[in-house]
Amino acid sequence: MSNVAENLKIVQQRIAKAAVSCGRNPQDIRLISVSKRHPVTAIRAAFAAGQVDYGENHLQEALTKITECDIEGIRWHFIGALQSNKTRSVAQYFDWVHTVDRLKLAERLNTQRPHHASPLNVCIQVKLIDEPQKTGCSPDKLEDLARAISVMPRLKLRGLMCIPPPMTDFVGQRDRFLELNKLAAGLNLGKMGLDTLSMGMSDDLEAAIAAGSTMVRVGTAVFGPRPVKPV
Ligand SMILES: *Cc1c(COP(=O)(O)O)cnc(C)c1O
Repeated sequence: MSNVAENLKIVQQRIAKAAVSCGRNPQDIRLISVSKRHPVTAIRAAFAAGQVDYGENHLQEALTKITECDIEGIRWHFIGALQSNKTRSVAQYFDWVHTVDRLKLAERLNTQRPHHASPLNVCIQVKLIDEPQKTGCSPDKLEDLARAISVMPRLKLRGLMCIPPPMTDFVGQRDRFLELNKLAAGLNLGKMGLDTLSMGMSDDLEAAIAAGSTMVRVGTAVFGPRPVKPV
């Protein structure tokens, strides 16, 4: 078995154990393997081991890999910083985007999603604490943005995403993730039918699952340490 296949198994076991220990069904948590900076050979190995969802954060690198991979049934998630000049390619080549944080981006994606494709799955990235250099929608603007996206025909609002600052203690990690869960629950009162909390990475996926995560984005634990330069 390749390293990647073995790592995937270990990560799936971590997910299952975390789910069971808080009374959740492991099937309700989807693993997004974050393949950024790793070569297409690693993606092929993971796909052969049954892994379907891949996260990329650098558009140019992702487009090269998506074209090169050309695997039927693979799903691509854009998880990087989103700017207006990137929306067209994201709308064209990805199945999911986790990092929408303002109306203008959503409007562009909605206009640019090709008509032969199903609506683009969208998560709103939320900024949980006020750090000026951080991207993400602030909680007080969240409801307006969610309402606007929920009526866009070429987008499907699925939920919320966050990237909290790294913390080492489980309780601290979990409490941050619970804030996102609460924000999502507040929106669901408006019957938007959200079903996704995109939160948790290699070092905090257990805490994220304890706080209700439905998608963990895991890079290092699946593919090993990232090469310094993109492939
Ligand atoms: C790189 C990245 C990850 C994966 O991080 P690891 O610590 O390697 O698991 C998850 N989410 C986002 C947005 C990332 O950019």
